[in-house]
Amino acid sequence: MKGFEETRAGFSFGPVFVVLLGALVVASGFFFILTAELIRSQANDRTRLVEATDAFTSTFAAERNEHNVVPASFRRRGIENLAEFVESIQERQEISVTMRMPGTPGLELRTVENDPRVRAAIKEIADDGDYSVIEESLFENGRFVGRTIFPSVASNPDCVSCHNKELRSPEYKLGDVMGAYVVESDLTSATYNNLTYAVSAGVLAFLGGGLVARRERRRMNRVVTSLEGQVRAERDKREAEAFSNFLSSHDALTGLSNRTMFRDRLDAEVEACASGKSEDVFVALIDLDDFKSVNDTMGHDAGDALLTGVGQRLSALVHEEAGLVARFGGDEFAVLVRMHAELTHPDQLGEKIVQSMAAPHSHEGLSIQGRCSVGVAALGEMTGGDASALLKAADTALYAAKRAGKGRYRSFDRELKDNMWKRAALSSALPIAIEQGEIYPVFQPQIDLGSGEIHGFEALARWKWYDLVVCPDQFIPVAEENGLVRQVDLQILRGAASFAVEFGRRSARPVRISTNVSALTFKGAGLAEEILDILLETGLPGDQLTLEVTETVLMENWGEVHDVLGVLRAKGVRAALDDFGTGYSSLSYLRRLQFEEIKIDRSFVVDLELDEQTRRLFAGVIDLAVGLGKTIVVEGVETDEQAEFVMEKGAHVAQGFLYSEPLSPADAAAAFSGSSLPSRREDHDLREWI
Ligand code: C2E
Ligand code: CA
Ligand code: CA
Repeated sequence: MKGFEETRAGFSFGPVFVVLLGALVVASGFFFILTAELIRSQANDRTRLVEATDAFTSTFAAERNEHNVVPASFRRRGIENLAEFVESIQERQEISVTMRMPGTPGLELRTVENDPRVRAAIKEIADDGDYSVIEESLFENGRFVGRTIFPSVASNPDCVSCHNKELRSPEYKLGDVMGAYVVESDLTSATYNNLTYAVSAGVLAFLGGGLVARRERRRMNRVVTSLEGQVRAERDKREAEAFSNFLSSHDALTGLSNRTMFRDRLDAEVEACASGKSEDVFVALIDLDDFKSVNDTMGHDAGDALLTGVGQRLSALVHEEAGLVARFGGDEFAVLVRMHAELTHPDQLGEKIVQSMAAPHSHEGLSIQGRCSVGVAALGEMTGGDASALLKAADTALYAAKRAGKGRYRSFDRELKDNMWKRAALSSALPIAIEQGEIYPVFQPQIDLGSGEIHGFEALARWKWYDLVVCPDQFIPVAEENGLVRQVDLQILRGAASFAVEFGRRSARPVRISTNVSALTFKGAGLAEEILDILLETGLPGDQLTLEVTETVLMENWGEVHDVLGVLRAKGVRAALDDFGTGYSSLSYLRRLQFEEIKIDRSFVVDLELDEQTRRLFAGVIDLAVGLGKTIVVEGVETDEQAEFVMEKGAHVAQGFLYSEPLSPADAAAAFSGSSLPSRREDHDLREWI
């Protein structure tokens, strides 16, 4: 019995134990195999994610070329969105993946590169030298974490400059590791899931469920494939979105920031000044001189090349200072830069910009001159201290620079600040002044160089404001800004015509008058009719009137000017090309528009005594114009030497302080009827409003 019992006991436990042990070995085998497989498939997912990221970045890398620089900030935005999306997919599968981009301008540099863990990883990669990928699996804060770190290597000079700009120090150079993509997977729940899966799979295996396990693996593969597809679709969408984001904040031609982005950054800089983080910020507005002529004479490709070249020079200029360059549109650029030890006054910025444009640009073997005018302003100069005031100040300075001549800079100073107030005052008083007839003509005699007699008068506008006299240089621009200049021009014409008719009748000699017509006066229909009405009303014969138009007028309204002058010419009205020699393509206008008169600008005359080249040019221009049958009027003759020279060269008419300053109607009439030219000015008892 005993033996039987022993035998029974030995017989029953041995095999059960062996079977259980076998089952356990098989189950754990399954568990390990399946866990390993799942971890591998997750690693695959990560690799795919990274491949997707790479594909994403390389798509934009392809977009990168000289003309279309895609900055890192833009790529970052796209990638962040992609990462978010992938996270959402991973969440659905109960595996969390986080992905971070390396330092890119703005937020990321601070959040990612300054993260000590990421810093350590970057250092490790950089020290390693081979830029290999780091993969690690660890137990961290009670969770299983799989992490892959990819170095982000500065493969492109634009990346380097962008990062350094943002860090405000030359931290990186080409080839440096600047950051890392970190892909983290939380494997905790996956591991628990695997355990359950493995146990059930083991049981199923016992029940001959190998087929089911295979099907399960296939299902997982399908999940991965669909994940891949979704990532791709999403990537395409993000690419398109990101590109349109890029376009909305950048200028497509030059790749520079646009006005909106410039304004955002300026607001941030102004805030930095307010909170004491920065001492001062300087803004420069840049306008190319004669850009239109490049487009007109050399073609739009040359114009585009010039704009791109200017953008590059400006970028290079402020690169070190981590400044920002934007194109506002057309030929207008803007630069923003913080004050620092070597840049303490806005003048320095203006000077640097003007100098950087001195050398011509080249395009397909052509040399293009890209001179510019620059207006600079510092926030510190402003009382209100806001971004809009700063831009307005720079704009005022730019306007002043343009008026002072081309290729110059001007910074916003006390004088301009006062001028701004004055302009505002003039602007509000002007409409009433026009209505009440406070704007009137004075008359500067034009001398016939053959006979020495008065040939006619140029009517020049004056504004008597209380006991002050305001000069046209001050109020014509204000009138132009307010859309009132046509009224001013026609009022002066009416006054001058009445004067000519009245004194012509008295002296029984026709009085010729010239009046100035602004570019804006030509805009809008009906100008020729209005002028003819004035002639009719006052009784001035058309052939006693000359209209003076400047080249700017022609550049802006070629068609209108041509038509208006055509209608008036039929009534005998003459046209004069004013300020000749200050524009750029005077000769082409001379040929295309039938001017009867050419007024050679004062600046020519001033330089006559100084410089032989100007004398030759002057003589050449006179020859040419005489050859074309034009009447030559020389402006701004102040000395006997100048008068002699211009007479000798064959000019017909001269005008200038040597003969007379502008005169009141009474003095002009007296001068015309033969008494000598008065030496006093028409406004001798009025103070000038400066
Ligand atoms: P502008 O047409 O070139 O007129 C000549 C300017 O030179 C006048 O200044 C005149 O006083 C000044 N001038 C004449 N001789 C000499 C000289 O020998 N030396 C110097 N240094 N200056 C001389 P003004 O009257 O201040 O006019 C300035 C500008 O204002 C004019 O330049 C013209 O462009 C504009 N302007 C004047 N009246 C009108 C007007 O009724 N309508 C428009 N649209 N513009 C006007
Ligand atoms: Ca004139
Ligand atoms: Ca002139």
